[in-house]
Amino acid sequence: MTFDVTHHTFIHENMRKRFVDGFHYDAHPMGMLVSAIAALGTFYDDAKDIKDKASRDKQILRLIAKMPTLAAMSFRFSVGLPFVYPNNSLSFPANFSPRNVPDGKSSVSTEVAYSRHRPLERDTMVERTIESLRTAGILAREDEIELVHAEEILPAYVIYDLAHGRNVATIREWLREQRIWTAGRFGEWQYLNMDHSMASGKAAAEAILADVSA
Ligand SMILES: Cc1cc2nc3c(=O)[nH]c(=O)nc-3n(C[C@H](O)[C@H](O)[C@H](O)COP(=O)(O)OP(=O)(O)OC[C@H]3O[C@@H](n4cnc5c(N)ncnc54)[C@H](O)[C@@H]3O)c2cc1C
Repeated sequence: MTFDVTHHTFIHENMRKRFVDGFHYDAHPMGMLVSAIAALGTFYDDAKDIKDKASRDKQILRLIAKMPTLAAMSFRFSVGLPFVYPNNSLSFPANFSPRNVPDGKSSVSTEVAYSRHRPLERDTMVERTIESLRTAGILAREDEIELVHAEEILPAYVIYDLAHGRNVATIREWLREQRIWTAGRFGEWQYLNMDHSMASGKAAAEAILADVSA
């Protein structure tokens, strides 16, 4: 679900350039937000398929995902600030629960992906990340950083190559013959998020139960 939401946070460029820029400079942000939500339907033709459950679910995801972008855009426009594109590699554990941080403090988590095609400059990574957060206005210059924790996760992501489907099918077929069930991101070798990984674990448990009771 997280993946589904974070991959719908962007808005169409024309929404920003043609629609929003048409508002008077002192338009109230709430009026802009309400109009922008109504205008979304004109960007997503499939939103008209209201009898189709899959389409309805997709529009729900779009609304949830785009709302923070539209709200931030309307506010920034109203105070004369430029649009900032959503950044899906940022999260704020303190927003999830204030118990994640001491009283009066906040926290931000960022992801920096790298590969052999896009190497990581380890020595300066932390400083550059902090500087980017300041440039984006997420950290104020005067904010005091009390703790930085950088962790390298190896391997973090499943990489799809052209032989992915064939190779994964071969391995799973062999494992199944040995009556071994695999589950989760690396067990299925799919780009699964947390909720999908749990569903995958549940499906594996059900398959094992069905096998032992057969
Ligand atoms: C940077 C990053 C950000 C993410 N953000 C989100 C997010 O915002 N929302 C979301 O839903 N998902 C997110 N995910 C994805 C989520 O973390 C995974 O989908 C989920 O953790 C997969 O669960 P899993 O149980 O399949 O695998 P894992 O959580 O990776 O668990 C596998 C476990 O097996 C252990 N292990 C490996 N090999 C062995 C071995 N030989 N012997 C014993 N133990 C072993 C590992 O140490 C690990 O503890 C993110 C992932 C990354 C890397």
